[in-house]
This record gives sequence, structure tokens and C-alpha cells, in this order.
Amino acid sequence: MATFRDLLSQTKARIREVDTAEAETAIAAPGAVVLDVREPDEYEQGALPNAVHIPRGHLESQVENRLPERDAPVVIYCAGGTRSAFAADTLQQLGYTDVVSVVGGFNKWKNEGRAWAAPRTLSPDQRNRYSRHLLVTEVGEEGQLKLLDSKVLLLGAGGLGSPAALYLAAAGVGTIGIIDMDVVDESNLQRQILHNLDRIGERKVDSAKKTLTLLNPDVDVVTYDVRLGADNILDIIDGYDVIIDGADNFPSRYLLNDASLLKHIPVVHGSIFRFEGQCTVFHPYVGPCYRCMIPEPPPAELAPSCAEAGVLGVLPGIIGSIQAMEAIKILLGIGDTLAGRLLAYDALEESFRTFKVNRDPDCPACGPNAGEIVIAEYDEYCMPHRH
Ligand SMILES: [Zn+2]
Repeated sequence: MATFRDLLSQTKARIREVDTAEAETAIAAPGAVVLDVREPDEYEQGALPNAVHIPRGHLESQVENRLPERDAPVVIYCAGGTRSAFAADTLQQLGYTDVVSVVGGFNKWKNEGRAWAAPRTLSPDQRNRYSRHLLVTEVGEEGQLKLLDSKVLLLGAGGLGSPAALYLAAAGVGTIGIIDMDVVDESNLQRQILHNLDRIGERKVDSAKKTLTLLNPDVDVVTYDVRLGADNILDIIDGYDVIIDGADNFPSRYLLNDASLLKHIPVVHGSIFRFEGQCTVFHPYVGPCYRCMIPEPPPAELAPSCAEAGVLGVLPGIIGSIQAMEAIKILLGIGDTLAGRLLAYDALEESFRTFKVNRDPDCPACGPNAGEIVIAEYDEYCMPHRH
């Protein structure tokens, strides 16, 4: 039977070890990955800059998701060089082709005065709050920190904005901006679940902020109690990572479209009508924009607002939730977003369909021959302005 010493020496014979100086050179190579396989409490005390942290015990189950590139150079370290040797052996068995283990590990690295830092991590409260996210490898601690650093702007605290805001706040999106200039009305409560009876007559943005802050104090809710217009839109949307469009009128949608193209901010668009809902993502200059999909607004008599047409209250709950999901996917860079696809939901049939939406080469806003975008108030025809 092999002793630990035998096992270690057999393992070391199968892998390549480097000293700290060689490791420093290897890490600087383009595409190289630094992998820290120590326990969380060791990692939190200090780690190499930009290290990917997978504790040795989770290595086999997590490494393929966290390090999908099997030919990338991987520099593995632990505290002294033993656990990293076993980890290097495991990675080689999993098909990683360029793996080295650092002799002396983090302790030697640190003693030699090489660069390290205490990594930013979640607090114990946050680790508990977001524990179900942390279990999803596509999110994990890194993704959760990304969400906490993210900024999402909601156009409207109404039927679509309510569920979207609640889920984004619950998910720990660190900054949520809300634009709305209405007050809470009793007839809103059938679908606008951010608000409640105590808030009737209150500004919607204030009601939204109270609800979201009670749900998750991590979230900074920024309120804009204004009418979104050509004079303020560029200032308001500046710095946001994603915008959720819950507007119910065409001039606002076109205004937002043109401004978001200028600022290169993806927009998650949603709309509802009676029992039907739609959702898509307008990713500036990657997928189609709103004008590619709807070059001009339908005549007013064919485009009744929610107030005129009525809506089953659950419907915006479903579409707004899908908008929140798309926003989170964009923030985390995971999955396939609805950019270039329109999702149509029919509540009576209980069916979802997706339709392809292409960029319009003649689009007056995002096409190759489009003129410079000028932000100005749009009338009912919503045509882009020219110099
Ligand atoms: Zn376009």
C-alpha cells in the first residue's frame, strides 16, 4: 500500500512544477489563468491578483465550467505546493494540456514580496442571502459580485417594471434606477405589485424605493420622478449597464431606442396587450434595434394604451419577469439573450413562440447609412431627426 509520500512523489512525477519566478512569467502570458485551490478562509486572507478560486474539494465538479479553455496555460497554487500538485494531476486527467503547479505556493510567493491582494468577497450575510445563486456555477460568487456592481435602469414602475424591479432587487443587482412621474392609484394595484394600499397617492418612485429597500438593503434605488424627454434622457441613462423598457407609448420607445444606440446600452423591451405579451433585447449594433423591428408607429387607433385596452394583471408579471431574466443574463454574460429574437406569449393558448428579427440594413437609426443620431422630442410619427 502506498503512503502519502509515495502518492505525492508519484503525482509530482506526472506533472510539471515551476518556482515562483517562473510562475510569475507564466501568469503574464496571454490567456494564462491563475487557479487558487485553497480553502475559502485561506483565499479570503489574500490571493494572487485575478486568481480563479476553486477549492480543491470542488475542483473536479467546477473546473470545466469555470475554465472552459482546455489549452490555456493554467498556473495552479495552494499554500505550499502539495494540494496544487494533486490539482495539476487532476486537471491533466481532465484534458487540460498546459498545467503547472507552483512550488512553495502562496506562502513563498508572499514572502518574496510578489503581488497579492485580499480578494473582494461576499459578506457572511450576503453569502447566506444569495446562497441559491452561489450554488449555480454560472453565477457563483464572481457572478454575484458582478450583479452587486451592476446598474439597471427601469423605464416605468408599472405593470412590467414592478415584477422586473422586484426580481432584480432580490437578485442583488446593486443599483436600480427607476423613472416614473406618476402617483400610485388604486386601479394600478391589479398589476403593479411594487405598490400597495398604504401608498395610494404617493409618488410611484418613492413607493418603489420603499418596497425594494425593504426586500434587499444591498440595493441602491435611484429615483427619477420626471418625464423622460429629449432634454434629460442622455444624462439619465448614462452609466447604466442595461435598460428595461416598460414604456407604454411609442414616442418614449423611439426616444429610448435612439438614446440607447448613442450610449451603446442594451435595452430589454417588453410590451403587453390584453392576453398577449412580447419581449426582446435590442443590443446596439449587434442585433436589431426597435426601429429595425417597428420602423414607424401604428396609427393611434390601432395602438390603444393599457388604460384603454385593459390587461389581465398576471400578464405583465410574466413578461416583466422575463425582462428581469434577460437583464441578468446580459449582466452575467451567460446563455443566449433575445437579441435578434422576439418572444411572443399567448396567455389564452398558454404558448410561447419566438420569431427571428433581423437588423434592417436601411434602418434610419442603426443601419450603415444612418445619419448621426439626434435626440429630440418625437411626435406621433416618431421619425428620427436630422441635422
Ligand atoms: Zn435599427
